[in-house]
Amino acid sequence: MKTRGLWCGASDCGTTRNQVVEFVSKVEDAGFNLLLPELKGGHGLLRYPSKAFPQAVEKPYDEFDLPAVLLDECKKRGIELHVWFIDFFEGENGPAFLDHPEWAARDAQGRCTNEEQLRGQRFTGLWMCPSRRPGYTDQWLVPVYREFAERYAFDAVHHDYVRYPGDLAPDQYCFCDWCLEDLPRWAGYVNDSFPEEPFDHALYDREYLEAHWEQSPRVLPTYWSKLNRAEKSRFLLEGSFFRYGRQDLDYFYYQYRKGAMLDFVKRSHEAVKQARPEMRVSAAVFKNPVHSGRFIGQDWREFAPYVDTMIPMDYRDHFPGTFDHYLGLLAETIERQKRWAIGCTRYLTGFAIWPLVRDDEPESERATRFAETIRLVKENNGQGCCVFCAGDMDRHSLWRIAARSW
Ligand SMILES: [Zn+2]
Repeated sequence: MKTRGLWCGASDCGTTRNQVVEFVSKVEDAGFNLLLPELKGGHGLLRYPSKAFPQAVEKPYDEFDLPAVLLDECKKRGIELHVWFIDFFEGENGPAFLDHPEWAARDAQGRCTNEEQLRGQRFTGLWMCPSRRPGYTDQWLVPVYREFAERYAFDAVHHDYVRYPGDLAPDQYCFCDWCLEDLPRWAGYVNDSFPEEPFDHALYDREYLEAHWEQSPRVLPTYWSKLNRAEKSRFLLEGSFFRYGRQDLDYFYYQYRKGAMLDFVKRSHEAVKQARPEMRVSAAVFKNPVHSGRFIGQDWREFAPYVDTMIPMDYRDHFPGTFDHYLGLLAETIERQKRWAIGCTRYLTGFAIWPLVRDDEPESERATRFAETIRLVKENNGQGCCVFCAGDMDRHSLWRIAARSW
């Protein structure tokens, strides 16, 4: 297998040069040749001494320059290095949200995601609005990518959470003040020159109501400006292009979200390339872009020119059925993913350790399913794989098994 990647947390790497050396040596000994350390976490903090966003730097990374040391140690060993950033998922105590609550994604009631319930618990994460300008995307996230690319000669930047919330309320975001106004303009539901004109069709002489679409009638109801947020949101998600027509506005709603994500992918790519032309981009994405395009705005078939290495997360828990079903479905999925990622220079199959093993089973059993998964990927995708994550390699004593499995 050509590329053998490993996602790791910043804490796995250590906070002294000696600890980093020890960790990177372990990674090398296990046969990995690509490392992706998480340097922008889901809590919104950065693990490098950022000058652009000093308020977001997590201690002790204000003093210990982890990426500089990782770069030294990985270069020496020929290990490719990608900086892993959590994109649109921020912490409720993260500085981006605290400084700019108006940048957060809002639901139809104007609430942030940390007011949602997930599996009986309050959801404490904060999803940010990808569309708003100026907003989180252009004022915070893209500048973080730019700064990192300027300062560190990593091989690539790595997108994660490059999407809308999925396990949390797939259809409820974003209805922030910006999106409520921007989506109708983007979709051409109203025009600037004659904003009040309904532009009903002169004839309606065709058999089907929807056959009169091409003149772009005003889609917004005449009483739009009097509607409250909840009613505007409902119209944008459940309304009809034509009064008495099919309820088809959700099509435009999902297209708008896909467009917002693609725009971010383009802008971050552009910022990275301007700062360091040889730097590349990779991304962790969901297994089926046809589905994730609809549910989380992540149709990664369109990311291709702006993402060099595509890494779908083919985790055991993203597939139904037994472990044997998983292996069968995974082989089939890999073939489809190769085609979806055809515009990328590399496609790696991502898989996670934690859904493959249970803590209460013998170590030998855990190792079997881990090794079986590597074997299946090896048979079907010679380009390589990416494993989540270093902490679970430790937890389940899998380093030596990995070394023997490639
Ligand atoms: Zn929004």
